[in-house]
Amino acid sequence: MKINCNYENVKKSYLFIEIAHRLREYASAHPEADIIKMGIGDVTLPLAPAVVEAMEKAAAEMGRKETFRGYVDDNGYDFLINAIKGYYAARGVDLDYWEIFVSDGAKSDLGNILDLFDADNTVLVTDPVYPVYVDTNVMAGRRIIYADATEENGFLPMPDRSVKADIIYLCTPNNPTGAAYTRAQLKEWIDYARENGAVILLDSAYEAFVTDSDVPRTAYEVEGARECVIEFCSLSKTAGFTGTRCGYTIVPKTLKAEGDLNAMWLRRQTTKFNGVAYVIQRAAEAVFTPEGQRQVKENIAYYQENARILMNGLDRCGIKYYGGKNSPYIWLKCPNGAGSWEFFDRLLTEANVVGTPGEGFGKNGAGYFRLTSFSTRERTTEAMVRLYKMLNG
Ligand code: PLP
Repeated sequence: MKINCNYENVKKSYLFIEIAHRLREYASAHPEADIIKMGIGDVTLPLAPAVVEAMEKAAAEMGRKETFRGYVDDNGYDFLINAIKGYYAARGVDLDYWEIFVSDGAKSDLGNILDLFDADNTVLVTDPVYPVYVDTNVMAGRRIIYADATEENGFLPMPDRSVKADIIYLCTPNNPTGAAYTRAQLKEWIDYARENGAVILLDSAYEAFVTDSDVPRTAYEVEGARECVIEFCSLSKTAGFTGTRCGYTIVPKTLKAEGDLNAMWLRRQTTKFNGVAYVIQRAAEAVFTPEGQRQVKENIAYYQENARILMNGLDRCGIKYYGGKNSPYIWLKCPNGAGSWEFFDRLLTEANVVGTPGEGFGKNGAGYFRLTSFSTRERTTEAMVRLYKMLNG
């Protein structure tokens, strides 16, 4: 038996494990410390009432002989697929029923989609990057090249025609930087992908946070996207489903490739995945009802207000930052030229606030730091008061 040696090349310490380790050490030495956690991007608000009601109703159906359900349909239940189809139609995007695949979240599909591609492909990711894109490709032994996301390009790298990439990951609005491509910028990537016969794996996990009118909520608003973009969506941040687990992936039938990627993905999913639970798909369906939309938008507005509190707090401290506007993430430049981990330790020990060192997302994250707006209002406000005190004595 031979193991997959590529696993030896995966970075040993996953970012959040290192954060948890430092946090644990500090907390055990200072049990009295009241620590505010703004590191991991997990939500704090509970599920919307419409979602809970749908879950309860569906759970009761599962307990009755007449309404019990067993194995799930191929790409998801029709009630949810049609709800997603309607969500796209409201933006002028007409998807075919069989282009929509219900998933147990964006992360699984972002990793699993790689089953469709040969190991001999060059993968392009931005730096800094959501680590999953890198780790999943390292595990499969693929070549990875990086496009620098820096202050100079507003953390939105554009395609370089002298570079040949086959699989391109774009995350917009971006985790960790909060930067979001405009329609015109995304069009440039789509043009590049079409010229190169490449595929764009577009992570749209934060689309619900978009506020700027020139930032697309889906890539399919942009001409040419149906030829080269697979879009990964999640209800985790949109509707607080981080622990409930549901998302959807759009694999157009019109993708240009040597094979039919849509048919391959259906084949892959029906072979290796047995679908998302009925109760959860009913819960997801409720997100797309008018009442569900009103309720989840209220929760998003709550986080957006937290982002404004963070931005105001950073302004008051004279700290430069990016993101926050179309995103729950704020990407700040560590004050006084501090390194990311240095700032992490100082913020933890002096202000008892935990964030995420930018360096953990790639070399261009050095000297930057990520805060999330997913905390409660009180804790978000308190974190900014503590930061001000820490910097101003
Ligand atoms: N993509 C990005 C960019 C994320 O930040 C996250 C979660 O933090 C995910 C995907 C994972 O989404 P899901 O919870 O749907 O698996």
